[in-house]
Amino acid sequence: MADAAARSGRAVEEITLVAVSKTHPPEAVIDALDAGQFIFGESRVQEARAKVPLVPARARWHFVGHLQKNKIRHALPLFEMLHGVDSLELSRDIDRIAGETGAFPRVLLEVNVAGEGTKFGFTPDMLRAQMEDLLALGRLNIDGLMCIPPPQPKAVMARGFFIALRELRDRLQMEFRVPLPQLSMGMSGDFTVAIEEGATLVRVGTAIFGERSGKTWKPEATGFDD
Ligand SMILES: *Cc1c(COP(=O)(O)O)cnc(C)c1O
Repeated sequence: MADAAARSGRAVEEITLVAVSKTHPPEAVIDALDAGQFIFGESRVQEARAKVPLVPARARWHFVGHLQKNKIRHALPLFEMLHGVDSLELSRDIDRIAGETGAFPRVLLEVNVAGEGTKFGFTPDMLRAQMEDLLALGRLNIDGLMCIPPPQPKAVMARGFFIALRELRDRLQMEFRVPLPQLSMGMSGDFTVAIEEGATLVRVGTAIFGERSGKTWKPEATGFDD
């Protein structure tokens, strides 16, 4: 991260590492916490509900997955930021439930930068068309944008997607006169390229915790029914 920041004339302090701990046990999170990492990313609410109480409270949690409507109420008290809010409808649901629970969630809007039909996220045109409605949701602090480009054989091939996200952010800031300081982009394979293109949050799992088994981590007996 420091090398990539230096290459692009940025201070590494501008960039926050989200250590994506999904599928890994709480012991792995505690090791990272002891090594000085404070922010962790999870992509399943039920896994986080079981894991968070087993990790010292100084850890802070970001939700990095696709949030289902019926999980919002559980997610709000666990996570200090929701990356990947991917539709106006979901934004409205979060706003409504935040109103009921007294929360003011920080959110990042997910943009489908590659225009893939099967992916979650706003297309750039959709986001511009719906931005007024999103900004009218009084409970949401919209801090910026997030993207998950399709996997590339080489990291540098993701550069165009990161540039597109940054340029869309710049355009929205001008058009709607709102600050959108955060750009959540870059994962284990391409976070250095994302930093060169302006990422303020990088979401790194495998490079920190090793390969995932693919299975969700579960405590011995969960007690959770969702
Ligand atoms: C799993 C995940 C990551 C981490 O991916 P790695 O390649 O393991 O670094 C980052 N962002 C999101 C949204 C994820 O779901």
